[in-house]
Amino acid sequence: DRLIAGAERPDEERKDHAIRPRMLDDYVGQAPVREQLDIFITAARQREDSLDHTLIFGPPGLGKTTLAHIIAKEMGVDIKSTSGPVLEKAGDLAAMLTNLQPGDVLFIDEIHRLSSAVEEVLYPAMEDFQLDIMIGEGPAARSIKLDLPRFTLVGATTRAGLLTAPLRDRFGIVQRLEFYNIDELTHIVNRSARLMDFEADEGGAIEVARRARGTPRIANRLLRRVRDFAQVRGNGRLTADVADKALNMLHVDRHGLDHMDRRLLLTMIEKFDGGPVGVESLAAAISEERDTIEDVLEPYLIQQGFMLRTARGRMVTRLAYLHFDLSPTDDIPD
Ligand code: ADP
Repeated sequence: DRLIAGAERPDEERKDHAIRPRMLDDYVGQAPVREQLDIFITAARQREDSLDHTLIFGPPGLGKTTLAHIIAKEMGVDIKSTSGPVLEKAGDLAAMLTNLQPGDVLFIDEIHRLSSAVEEVLYPAMEDFQLDIMIGEGPAARSIKLDLPRFTLVGATTRAGLLTAPLRDRFGIVQRLEFYNIDELTHIVNRSARLMDFEADEGGAIEVARRARGTPRIANRLLRRVRDFAQVRGNGRLTADVADKALNMLHVDRHGLDHMDRRLLLTMIEKFDGGPVGVESLAAAISEERDTIEDVLEPYLIQQGFMLRTARGRMVTRLAYLHFDLSPTDDIPD
């Protein structure tokens, strides 16, 4: 059971509800994104117009869904949520679109996973607020056109490059979320601890933040487990010592790497002499999906300088060797 990867489990989602920021002002970090959205939302509201279609991209757990909800709330409209894999047929999307009220936000998570048939329906809907769809089959088939209310599509994806160019071009606003720094994560941990009635020392909050892989979802997840530990083995307070012990027990190391991160790096070191190695070979060697490596594992490891993506494949850096107390050979890059 992985602490780092994966979406929210249903029970966790329910608990998360209470700590999820509701308004732009509660949304910690991502200053450029907040500043821009604040301007675009205020301007749209002043014109009594809907917000332009917005694409948000970035690794899992950085706050894309949260931001979609905030946009709706700040615009004073409802949000209807779905995801790329759920919208199997053109009719599934048509049903969502015809259910929208003027100004509503339609949130499509994993928008890069839409089928081309569904994407075709989305283009005129985004551009002209027109539904253009074939119904029936064979000689009885006919196309129907319907006017849709003006709405805002908010799409979320892990990497902007996964979208087809025509889809990407139809978004007026494109925002990229970055990993959070320790200060921002400490702020998030303190805020969540307060909402969970979990008394936190500054040092304890920093320790959880440091080991949260730059990701608010992981910070909140680790915080819940540390709270259990503090309750049973400590005095119920979040201290640096309690956080360190709890996170060691969970095999989250001092850099926030978990066993899958370590396995990826160690496999590159032990089986591929540090690389370069193609992502497919790497996926096979650690029995993981290529997508998991590209979306979940490597963005943080690259950002932290443990590995590099080169034209010849993935390579580990000297820092990765040193992390495992191994001596890098001379050909290992910095
Ligand atoms: P994504 O959709 O990118 O996978 P989510 O929006 O579901 O990520 O975020 C995961 C959780 O992390 C949220 O439910 C929320 O509690 C927390 N979170 C995300 N971004 C922020 C933020 N900027 N400030 C505070 N908490 C955040």
